[in-house]
Amino acid sequence: MPCCGLRAIEIYLQLQRVQQRVVEVQQWEKSRAASARPRNPPEWTLQVDVGADPRPVAVHLGECTVGGARLKRITRRDAIEALTAGILPCALCRPDRELQVD
Ligand SMILES: [Zn+2]
Repeated sequence: MPCCGLRAIEIYLQLQRVQQRVVEVQQWEKSRAASARPRNPPEWTLQVDVGADPRPVAVHLGECTVGGARLKRITRRDAIEALTAGILPCALCRPDRELQVD
């Protein structure tokens, strides 16, 4: 019966679509799992002002790009010391929260 053949094709095509969807979801979950991995301990940066004798102006998380090119890599200890010394934490990346400095 031709109708049964068509029905079989229809089911087959639907199954293909489902399989395709499953692959898509699996890929999405894989990429999501990759991005949700615990990130490396953050590195810290010190933003310095423009000048012959650059002075520190703000502390940033390593991933923050607010300071642009005027960023120096510093250690966590340096970051804490800088904040304790009165250098402002960046208002966007809030390194003080990460460092738990009041
Ligand atoms: Zn920042």
